Amino acid sequence: MNGEQEQAILAVHVRGLDGMCVGCHAWWSRLTPYPCWQVDWATSRKARTITARFLGGVR
Ligand SMILES: [Zn+2]
Repeated sequence: MNGEQEQAILAVHVRGLDGMCVGCHAWWSRLTPYPCWQVDWATSRKARTITARFLGGVR
């Protein structure tokens, strides 16, 4: 996992003017309040990747 998937999700799943997720609406015609679970997932994955990289750099 190199973080590209998370980046792609975060790039598409952004907050719309109505507070709904643009990505979920575009992909599945689904109105999901932002942040949707995909953003939550990508954010936590990304944080873990950065932490791992940080720890790796220190070592
Ligand atoms: Zn979404």
